[in-house]
Amino acid sequence: MISIDDLILKLKGYEEEDIAKIKFAYEYARDMHKGQYRQSGEEYITHPLNVAYILADMHADTDTICAGLLHDTLEDTKTTKEDLIRLFNNNVANLVDGVTKISKMNFSSENEQNAANTRKIITSITNDVRIIIIKLADRLHNMRTLEFKSEYKQKENAIETMEIFVPLAYYIGAYRIKSELEDLSLKYLKPSIYKKLSDQKQKIELDNSEMLKEMEFRIKRILNNKNIPNEIKIRTKNIYGIYKRINEGQKLSNIHDLLALKIMVDEIDNCYIALGLVHSLYKPIYTKFKDYICNPKTNMYESLHTTLMVNDDKLVQTQIRTFDMDKIASFGLPAYWEIYGKNARISMQKDLHEKYQFFDSLIKMNSMFSDNELFVSQVKNEIFTEKVYVYISNGERIELPKGSTVIDLAYKLGRDIGDTIIYAYANDQMVGLDYVLNNNDRIKVVRDEMSFGPKENLQARTSYAKMMISKNKNDWK
Ligand code: MN
Repeated sequence: MISIDDLILKLKGYEEEDIAKIKFAYEYARDMHKGQYRQSGEEYITHPLNVAYILADMHADTDTICAGLLHDTLEDTKTTKEDLIRLFNNNVANLVDGVTKISKMNFSSENEQNAANTRKIITSITNDVRIIIIKLADRLHNMRTLEFKSEYKQKENAIETMEIFVPLAYYIGAYRIKSELEDLSLKYLKPSIYKKLSDQKQKIELDNSEMLKEMEFRIKRILNNKNIPNEIKIRTKNIYGIYKRINEGQKLSNIHDLLALKIMVDEIDNCYIALGLVHSLYKPIYTKFKDYICNPKTNMYESLHTTLMVNDDKLVQTQIRTFDMDKIASFGLPAYWEIYGKNARISMQKDLHEKYQFFDSLIKMNSMFSDNELFVSQVKNEIFTEKVYVYISNGERIELPKGSTVIDLAYKLGRDIGDTIIYAYANDQMVGLDYVLNNNDRIKVVRDEMSFGPKENLQARTSYAKMMISKNKNDWK
């Protein structure tokens, strides 16, 4: 069980003044929730305390951690928003208010209520992404303690977690949270499969531990000889990840990243040096090499991935990155701001806009659909879904829902591009506007400023392209 002392221990690196604020937020929340209990029988304050602990682990800023401690005070105690402004500050008050508003809406039908809530959760990211970060921590602790709820609630929560919170965690790059949410969901949705896979995973870890330790030892020695500061960790794919691959028809022994070594070094140059050294010890599988440092994922994930052949027939993935990249890969945006300092935090909403592609799609969709149920189903169908990635002329990697065509890409790049595109080149081959994009296609758009815009019968995958095509149709009627 986590205590306030554990939380404070987690806060090493935070300023004295910040720790004092967090302590005060804890004492205030504890007093306000006095006499309230969770279904587990524990005092209510254990929940906000755990949420704050998860947030501290994610390297969230002081206001966010305070808001995590206070996140249920507006809803469940006599506290008012004015109290929070007076005792803390506007930021903290707005964050708590934002988290509270998500779960405090009333509608006639349950479906409509759910859709309205979901929309609130998703779009709160456009006001202040920290609201989502607090909701993710809140959901993670609730999922960890789900055993005390009814079976119906367990399933309902697990489904919502998979449909909404897992994609959100992915989009802000918080892989550690995402993996745990996936595993906890699977545990309640498919208990017997979960149990079986988790036993199998344990056995795999046991069977391979010697081999992995030997690899760790050899790689560490060669890095140390070159005076490269490093840390190496052994990891096995999460249970849900294994489940997904097996569901796709893969054999356990063929999952190339089932076993992995995470190699962290001090700077970018040393990532590439380490890569060369690792390849001098073990033979890589060429097709499995990825350079996400030169080409970060659209959620800002950066790392080198290479899969090695070990002991003749075992596949082991190595992920090579800097210590900073590793923080971002584990916790996403909050760690990003921690590394880049206070100024980065001020510009975080702007950063989101510029660096995270899903953000724009979300804003577009929010303005296109006034109906909540339609909005939620479109987000699930277009953003929180399987994706395809292509490269455009400047080398940028663009993310679209799977099944998208050239016209979807053109409208994603901008309305003027969609309106004037006449054809494109896919990997140097001329293609039409209805060409379905494949992963890693190189696409070059050809435009004609005099074009009348895409034809009315053109099929598109994304709702924005669909809307623009039908708009064109009506304009020229
Ligand atoms: Mn809560």
